[in-house]
Amino acid sequence: MNIAEWLAASARLNPDAPALLSGTEIVADYAAFARRAAAVGHHLATKHGVAPGDRVALFAHNATQYLECLYGVWWIGAVVIPINAKLHGREAAWICANGGAKLAFVSADTAAPLNDASADLQSPLPLLAIDDDAFGRIAASGEGAARPAPREDDDLAWLFYTSGTTGRPKGVMLSHGNLIAMSLCYPTDVDSVAREDAALYAAPLSHGAGLYNFIHVRMAARHVVPSSGGFEPDEVLDLAKRLRNVSMFAAPTMVRRLVDAAKARGEDGDGIKTIVYGGGPMYLADIRDAIATMGQRFVQIYGQGESPMTITSLPRAFHADTEHPRYLERLSSVGVAQSMIEVRITGANGEVLPAGETGEIEAKGPPVMLGYWNNPQASAETLRGGWLRTGDVGRLDADGFLTLSDRSKDVIISGGTNIYPREVEEALLTHEAVHEVSVIGVADPEWGENVVACVVLRDGVTVTDAALDAHCLATIARFKRPKRYVFLDALPKNNYGKVLKTALRERLGGKG
Ligand code: AMP
Repeated sequence: MNIAEWLAASARLNPDAPALLSGTEIVADYAAFARRAAAVGHHLATKHGVAPGDRVALFAHNATQYLECLYGVWWIGAVVIPINAKLHGREAAWICANGGAKLAFVSADTAAPLNDASADLQSPLPLLAIDDDAFGRIAASGEGAARPAPREDDDLAWLFYTSGTTGRPKGVMLSHGNLIAMSLCYPTDVDSVAREDAALYAAPLSHGAGLYNFIHVRMAARHVVPSSGGFEPDEVLDLAKRLRNVSMFAAPTMVRRLVDAAKARGEDGDGIKTIVYGGGPMYLADIRDAIATMGQRFVQIYGQGESPMTITSLPRAFHADTEHPRYLERLSSVGVAQSMIEVRITGANGEVLPAGETGEIEAKGPPVMLGYWNNPQASAETLRGGWLRTGDVGRLDADGFLTLSDRSKDVIISGGTNIYPREVEEALLTHEAVHEVSVIGVADPEWGENVVACVVLRDGVTVTDAALDAHCLATIARFKRPKRYVFLDALPKNNYGKVLKTALRERLGGKG
């Protein structure tokens, strides 16, 4: 089935329901949203020869037109390549070339960088700006098919380029069936969705936030792009109070900033229904602080582009079950397998490990990708007998709660013993002087690697190495404590707010 059928159905059943909002202003109801998407698709097909299966890139900032472009492409059975608007023009051009894009939608300020960079491409890449009058006329033309083109579940819908924290990004092939399965897990494993809800896109639509649009389209809920086009904590708090029933996806760094803003305003996030967080480690100290400030508004998910948003989830109930004897252990986990997913842990030789043992996390189920675009070798290495090898290390407990240690490449091996940076980071973050921390391994002739903590202190605070050492010794084994502390003004992060351990290692002499 073509996932755009969900938009067609909502337009038939709830034509007047508000669909697209820019800030608090309604710019399209469901009937208009579907009509505009069909018109965009019609333009692509008739003016640019885009056929079913062809790829169309979307290198643009969050905007309501972004959603019209996504559905316009699917309406005619073509494939989208959403690209984070913060990427360099050359990175975006590389992705367009790798994915064989026929055309790219752009924003006013991404057009020139992409255009300059695409001069090197073998064939010219037509650009279509989504925020000018010409696009408005295309979307308002009233032309286009009444229904989306037929698609099979295994047909490609979304080429999702990995964030590429190591090496070139890879194009994850997500089918219509993958996206439908992923979306249907949301109401069972993450949160209920109703027509009154508002999905707020404060994080890039090219990634997790955008993947959550589908279930909100299916339920004819509102889609809200903040006027800033991005994440401004005060704007989110203001919008939530006016829009009510707001749900949003946020990376852990965004949750911290939102919590800080709420504290500064003496507010609790009134109007926010749910913040789904994931995409990187949420430290225990931070989620406890978040709950204390904003109440039970949080759900955690663990996924990756290869099984988008859908490996495990830690629903609200487990955030709230403070009386449970293992409450904190569960709160530190990423929750339990989502309904369409099986999770297992494997050892170095691929053997399945019992509960309690640490190894590579593998996942299997309908949301798992078809494979990597034009990369059969990487596909074969990553998908083994239908199981996705996530490259993440963790353990399951007897009840099925998954605790993530680290990416396998981030594990530190010192004196032949594995040390999981996350554990050391959790310990240091409970020290009052520490604002952020990232722990890496740095080459050492005697030990192989040494544990080094890169620490960002809270404003105006100082602390000695000895004090941090004493703090670590109070909670973790002596051999895990950092051999060195490096104080930094900020941690290097990628465009999704993930800490770039590779950059820290390069700077401090660790493995590349
Ligand atoms: P991406 O494919 O860019 O979304 O990155 C996926 C990776 O982010 C996963 O393989 C994990 O390493 C990490 N990740 C995702 N969700 C979580 C989470 N809830 N806690 C910790 N790390 C996470």
